[in-house]
Amino acid sequence: MNTELLINLSYIVSAILFVFGLKMLGSPATARRGNLFSSIGMLIAIVVTLTSKGLLPWENVIIGFIIGSTIGAFAARKVEMTGMPEMVALFNGFGGAASLLVGMVATYTTGNSTFVNITIILSILIGGVTLTGSIIAWGKLSERLPTKAIMFSGQQIFNGALVLAILASAVMFCQEPTNPQWLYAVLGLSLLFGVMAVIPIGGADMPVVIALLNSYSGLAACAAGFVLDNNLLIVAGALVGASGIILTNIMCKAMNRSLSNVLFSGFGAVTTSSTKVEGEVKPISADDAYLIMEAAQSVVFVPGYGMAVAQAQHVVRELADHLEDNGCDVKFAIHPVAGRMPGHMNVLLAEASVPYDQLVEMDDINPQLPNTDLAVVIGANDVVNPAANKDKGSPLYGMPVINVDEARTVFVLKRSMGSGFSGVDNPLFVGDNTRMLFGDAKESISHIVGEFKG
Ligand code: NDP
Repeated sequence: MNTELLINLSYIVSAILFVFGLKMLGSPATARRGNLFSSIGMLIAIVVTLTSKGLLPWENVIIGFIIGSTIGAFAARKVEMTGMPEMVALFNGFGGAASLLVGMVATYTTGNSTFVNITIILSILIGGVTLTGSIIAWGKLSERLPTKAIMFSGQQIFNGALVLAILASAVMFCQEPTNPQWLYAVLGLSLLFGVMAVIPIGGADMPVVIALLNSYSGLAACAAGFVLDNNLLIVAGALVGASGIILTNIMCKAMNRSLSNVLFSGFGAVTTSSTKVEGEVKPISADDAYLIMEAAQSVVFVPGYGMAVAQAQHVVRELADHLEDNGCDVKFAIHPVAGRMPGHMNVLLAEASVPYDQLVEMDDINPQLPNTDLAVVIGANDVVNPAANKDKGSPLYGMPVINVDEARTVFVLKRSMGSGFSGVDNPLFVGDNTRMLFGDAKESISHIVGEFKG
């Protein structure tokens, strides 16, 4: 069998592993296996690419493999679950940087066709935007940079001029590929454009930006695949690009926003909420909360970011078991943007071995809430804010939320009256049927579990 055929066969195996891996990531039950499948596909791709055509000796591949895997394993082990989105943002940035470097290096090959020159420009442009855009997203998420949207007058005109300058430099590069100044112009302008594209986005829109940057990193890899004439890089880049854009679309729908509204509206730059949260806050003790829970026939838990902070998922599962033993119907309502990354709640609840059939998507749980005895909100805030349904002046207006206020009784477990990620006040906390159980969610739930045991 000749080498070329062997390489292409290995690439086909890798591509199949990527596709099946992606498919398996769609369900918590198969996600781990999907991750493993995709990793094996990537391992085959790296080894075959680097060792074929005598590109690198085996020893170098093994040394690189050990260094890369050690850094990756260390980063993945060390990162807190709540820090995952930041890590994903950085990974996207590295993907963009890799494609950018491929584009830069390819310009050293003389006699490139116009098609290759266009793909070089695309790798540098998309890779550059992804790199700096991801660094800004990482800074905003980790609060090293202001999380609010940064807007200034004439911003859109400036960005428009930037796009025109990139286009002009790209055209000039294609006409004079030997003149590096046009390439450096595309590089510098693309890096600046990445910053300009992400700074006006803030608040609750960050998840969409990360999904979009993920898609960009795929498109940049796809362009780099054309530069290198590598079929697998084209396929893998296209898969990441397409899945990233599908996820972006799902997240936009979950927030009831269009993508252009997310990217250009400057959400969070100004607080326009007309919601005056006025009313009586009715606290409840963990002892009294236990008595109401013990009598409930149906309980819906609504986890949010605070459950991740408190690491309360294991005690929540314990509480759910006690309630079930008590004859109560228990469900977990999952909002698509609860927490700080897509699927955040699914991951946490799977970690605590909550059965998948107890997890119910927002659209399916909402009609059931009016017939639910008790909704228990565990560290969620924005995703249960009724202002999103009722207050046209609220920045959250139109975002689909879990309608916990329609349950007969609502417990909200949090430490204070503070707002959530979007900084918008929540009228749920003063609702007639709401009782606030103040304190760390893990401590409050552990106390109630103790009562059940007692
Ligand atoms: P929120 O950020 O709206 O609210 C979390 C709440 O948890 C806070 O109000 C906080 O209140 C409470 N909390 C924090 N620590 C604890 C603790 N130890 N014990 C109990 N409560 C605690 O979370 P949601 O999940 O409701 O909403 C997610 C938000 O994040 C949305 O706005 C979404 O758009 C955004 N987002 C989502 C991403 C995603 O991909 N899922 C990514 C990035 C942003 P207190 O301080 O009073 O305790």
